[in-house]
Amino acid sequence: DPPQRLNKVLAAAGVASRRSSDELIFGGKVTVNGSVCKTPQTRVDPLRDVIFVNGSRLPRRLPPKVYFALNKPKGYICSAGENDTKSVLSLFNDFMKSWDRMNPGLPKPRLFTVGRLDVATTGLIIVTNDGDFAQKISHPSSNLTKEYIATVDGSVHKQHLITISEGTIVDGVRCVPEVVELLPQQPDIPRPRIRIVVHEGRNHEVRELVKSAGLEVHALKRVRIGGFRLPTDLALGKHIQLKPANLRALG
Ligand code: URA
Repeated sequence: DPPQRLNKVLAAAGVASRRSSDELIFGGKVTVNGSVCKTPQTRVDPLRDVIFVNGSRLPRRLPPKVYFALNKPKGYICSAGENDTKSVLSLFNDFMKSWDRMNPGLPKPRLFTVGRLDVATTGLIIVTNDGDFAQKISHPSSNLTKEYIATVDGSVHKQHLITISEGTIVDGVRCVPEVVELLPQQPDIPRPRIRIVVHEGRNHEVRELVKSAGLEVHALKRVRIGGFRLPTDLALGKHIQLKPANLRALG
C-alpha cells in the first residue's frame, strides 16, 4: 500500500477537517510512532504507523461495507483464482487499485462472492465484503428465488418442461423448480431458451434439472436474485455498486 499524507489520514479518520488537521499537526498535537510530527505532508501508513492525536490513538477504521452486482463472464470462477484459473475477483482490480486514492486511510475491503456460479455460467453474482449480509441472503430461510435462462440444444417439447418441473435429486435432496417456462423464440437467438426459477441453488442444480429431461445445456445465465434483476445494460465482466434499495430487494 502506498503511504498516505498524515493530514489526509487524520481527515479521513474523522478527527478533523483537512485544514484543522494541519493546525493540529503544526501545533505539535500529533505523534507518529512516538515522535511529534509537525509536517502535514509526512507519509504514513495508517495501518502500520501508530498515530496519536491529542494523546489518543487514532481510531482504527474498519473497511466500509461494499456491495456489487457483477455480470459474470464465462471462464471465471467464483473463488480466489489459482494458477491458470481466472477469478471473478480479478474483475475488481481497477476498483482495488483506486481504493487508496478514493478512500485515504481506510483499509482495503476483502471481497468475495455470495454463493457461486459454475465456471461456464454467466450473469448475476453479488460481490461484497459483508459476511453477515452474505450469510443472510444465502440462507434458505431468506427464501430468495433465483431466475436462470437456460439456452438448450435441439428442440423443446411439452414433455421436457413437465420433466424439468418435476424436479431432480441434487446432493441427495429433491429440488423442484418454482417456474419452468419456454420463452418465445427470438429471431436473433436460434436455440430455445427456458426460464427456470429455483429456491435452493445447489451445486449445478439448474444444469441437472435440464439434463434430467434429456436436454443439453448450451448456455446458462442467472438474471435475478430475489427482487433484484441483472440490469440489461450491464455488460459481461462489468459491475455496479448496489444502493440500499437494491440491498433491500436482496434481503
Ligand atoms: N445452477 C447451475 O447448474 N449452475 C449454476 O452456475 C448455478 C445454478
